[in-house]
Amino acid sequence: MKILTMKFGGTSVADIDRIKAVRDIISDEIRGGWNVVAVVSAMSKETNKLIDLAKQVGVENLVDPEYDSLISTGEDVSSSLLAIALNSIKISSRSWRGWQLPIRTDSFHSNAKIEEITTDQIISSFKEGVKVAVVSGFQGIEQAGRITTLGRGGSDTSAVAIAAAIDAERCDIYTDVSGIYTTDPRIKKNASKLKKISFEEMLEMASLGANVLQTRAVELAMRHKVPIRVLNSFLKEEGTLVCDEEEIMEKNIVSGIAFQKNESQLTLTNIEDKPGVAAKIFGPLASSGVNIDMIVQSNTETGLTNITFSCPEDELDIAKKAISKAKEKNVVSYERLIENKNLAKVSIIGIGMKTHAGVAQKMFETLSQENININVISTSEIKLSVLIERKYLELAVRSLHDAFGLQNL
Ligand code: ASP
Ligand code: MG
Repeated sequence: MKILTMKFGGTSVADIDRIKAVRDIISDEIRGGWNVVAVVSAMSKETNKLIDLAKQVGVENLVDPEYDSLISTGEDVSSSLLAIALNSIKISSRSWRGWQLPIRTDSFHSNAKIEEITTDQIISSFKEGVKVAVVSGFQGIEQAGRITTLGRGGSDTSAVAIAAAIDAERCDIYTDVSGIYTTDPRIKKNASKLKKISFEEMLEMASLGANVLQTRAVELAMRHKVPIRVLNSFLKEEGTLVCDEEEIMEKNIVSGIAFQKNESQLTLTNIEDKPGVAAKIFGPLASSGVNIDMIVQSNTETGLTNITFSCPEDELDIAKKAISKAKEKNVVSYERLIENKNLAKVSIIGIGMKTHAGVAQKMFETLSQENININVISTSEIKLSVLIERKYLELAVRSLHDAFGLQNL
């Protein structure tokens, strides 16, 4: 049995015409001899509407089981509509809610993790002649029998997890863009669509805000080696294959430029340069839930040093409060707390960096030619990030895109 998992996002099932278009995309695959597991999101904007309704009746917190039981229902509408549409053109199909399979999750409501998926019913139905199993994305069931949801954008994760559990050949993710681009085409018109991108690169891109795929879905695909194709349900185009690094012969040194717009930084001056100080600073920040990203500290001969870190701008006030409180309680000591808002992070990403020298030099040279100052630098094996003033973000992305020749990939 040849099994293909196909996922359709909110805009791909936004109305009846779009659902009919999806029906036809699936019907093409059936003609190619596949059995299809189709995972669907709620019709576009439906989840937001449900969240808004929950707020209007006074939902107290997002871990309320009733909240999940409500916001998961958008997916049930689209999965049943799609199954009806397929049956109406004589393609045998049936829908499943997450709990019916079941898709078992932990009980962390509104952001649950999948623990186990039973695919027996789908397999038996295929053996009995069903061609398409339509599954509501985004939802599962926890141990006590309550419905859970997998976090915003969680249908991607449902689809990849089902593909892994049922040992599907591939997971095709249909959305409203034609694939993964070297950068945001709204900023750089001649950004190119990548034919292939490795899981690792995609993870860096996804977590840096190129939000085509839920990060957790990419992690899962990497772990289970499920190739993902990102495709456009509005246009018949080749799309991008997200796959294992070994399947990419021509490794790009740089495959893409990702960015995050709303960054800020804090500097603590004249802190003591001795063991345990960093732990004392970052402890209160972690307890306040601040997402710290880049950190710089250097050691000195004076016994005093500065530490600088970045966090999303909307978390800056919480971070400042946490640090000041820790100072009041004499947990940390520093001279001044300097804040710097209106920053942005720009990152170049590529698996080829692992084996090529000179990438950092080229990045810094390019930024210096544009007179862009770098506040903080951080690196990983396949990524180089800089924190710069937000007003230079677009200029930085464009000039780096040109410097690394990404328009010709
Ligand atoms: N409908 C859910 C959301 O809007 C899940 C998804 O679309 O993937 O977040
Ligand atoms: Mg999505």
